[in-house]
Amino acid sequence: MTTIVATNDSRRLQFLDDYCPRCNPAGHYADSRVRLATLTAPTSLTWHGGRRVVCRYQCEGCGHRWRRADLWDAQSAGLAA
Ligand SMILES: [Zn+2]
Repeated sequence: MTTIVATNDSRRLQFLDDYCPRCNPAGHYADSRVRLATLTAPTSLTWHGGRRVVCRYQCEGCGHRWRRADLWDAQSAGLAA
């Protein structure tokens, strides 16, 4: 089973955000201004029914697209109890 959650409502997925690796390679270690500017909410989630959720992102600053499969699990995404 595959569930794809695509959304234009970025607020709904805001809590699954990640830092653009191109604009902010330091991630959590960057200073707060950089972190705020590079924080990106996912454009979609893909869930195959297990623990892992694949999040896709597109940076608003540089347009870079990336995906993370290791960052969030289904529970934090609200997909599994
Ligand atoms: Zn970027």
